[in-house]
Amino acid sequence: MSREYDDAVVGAGIMGLAHAYALARRGRRVIVFERHRQAQGASVRNFGMLWPIGQPAGRPRQVAMESRAIWTDVLTRSGIWHRFTGSLHLAYHEDEETVLGEFLEQAPAGGYDCRWLSPFEATALAPYLNPQRLRGGLWSPTEICIDPRQVIARLPEWLHQQYGVEFEFGTTITGYDHPTVSAGRRSWQAGQLYVCSGEDFLTLYPEEFAASGLYRVKLQMMRTRAYGDEVRLGPMLAAGLTLCHYKNFQDCPSLPALRARYEREMPDYVGYGIHVMASQHSGGEVTIGDSHEYNEAISPFDKEEINRLILDYLATFLRLPELEIVERWNGIYAAHPAELCWTGRPETGVLLVGSPSGRGMTMSFGIAERLVRETLGEDEDGI
Ligand SMILES: Cc1cc2nc3c(=O)[nH]c(=O)nc-3n(C[C@H](O)[C@H](O)[C@H](O)COP(=O)(O)OP(=O)(O)OC[C@H]3O[C@@H](n4cnc5c(N)ncnc54)[C@H](O)[C@@H]3O)c2cc1C
Repeated sequence: MSREYDDAVVGAGIMGLAHAYALARRGRRVIVFERHRQAQGASVRNFGMLWPIGQPAGRPRQVAMESRAIWTDVLTRSGIWHRFTGSLHLAYHEDEETVLGEFLEQAPAGGYDCRWLSPFEATALAPYLNPQRLRGGLWSPTEICIDPRQVIARLPEWLHQQYGVEFEFGTTITGYDHPTVSAGRRSWQAGQLYVCSGEDFLTLYPEEFAASGLYRVKLQMMRTRAYGDEVRLGPMLAAGLTLCHYKNFQDCPSLPALRARYEREMPDYVGYGIHVMASQHSGGEVTIGDSHEYNEAISPFDKEEINRLILDYLATFLRLPELEIVERWNGIYAAHPAELCWTGRPETGVLLVGSPSGRGMTMSFGIAERLVRETLGEDEDGI
């Protein structure tokens, strides 16, 4: 006999969990389906950086801050590990300092709360920084560090206990014929289906995904041994290459010149889309990444050359004692060239939600709240 729900969500990655939360807290009966015994996609493979500083002023920044508020509430109430670390973008060259200075000038108008730290202030906050040739850094207090592995393992449990959300792990949804959700011969009834299938564009609604403009991006990542309390990173860290990566810096007049220098002096880094960031989790382990390879360039095999370039660049700004990499992996996310988060409504009762690119952890709860409000007719603003 099939069971009845108000809403069914496909995918227990962060987008699926955020939609389940937005729906269940309204008192709706929700079921989440996940193909694996635990989600194994981008949501468990990332840095765990809730990074509103990376979003450009306007709507993206607004959604990021809304998302941050919901995350804070969820993390506090669930007791899932998190740390209000803030973030530090470091400058070791004059042109990097110039770009960061230009961003600081625009920051108040864009609603960013950040300030410049001298080398002395920066190393006081982040004691393992390389102090040589450090010119200073942009400090922002809004970033939160989470451990994606803990979030993905524990959030489903909390959603079930707190809001009665049901989970069917190890279940691949193969079709929806309103209101019947099917996984092979098994079926459930749900008035609305939210498809948060990450980079899987093939199982459900393949024509719509093929026409959406979404593309796939592969990143290589590493984790160090657990330092315990022996090494405290302080804020989450980024350096010069990151300035070309996040859109919050896009209106800085000196950015094209900085990019041109990197293209001249560091072509391998630019070619592999490498910029280097570091976050530290509850056991003191440091997560390091990343690179960007696209669509046809994505291979199942990782390139050791990329890992070496990442570690070489890391050493220019962070000196971790007895650095030992204990894990290497890659992750793939879906991205859209224009949309903050691509959505599609191919038929009655179906919402397709594309992953919001490399910012999905940051934006998830804000996007889900807005999409649920729109779908339930509470608000037409959407995302
Ligand atoms: C290496 C890496 C680092 C990143 N770092 C950050 C960061 O620090 N901060 C940040 O904000 N963002 C970061 N991102 C981006 C962020 O991780 C993603 O945007 C986000 O996790 C996407 O979530 P999702 O739920 O859409 O996709 P996923 O996490 O991939 O989840 C989709 C799930 O759907 C399931 N599924 C698919 N089809 C079906 C089906 N038919 N039936 C059942 N289940 C199905 C899959 O098994 C999967 O578990 C990073 C991404 C990567 C790859």
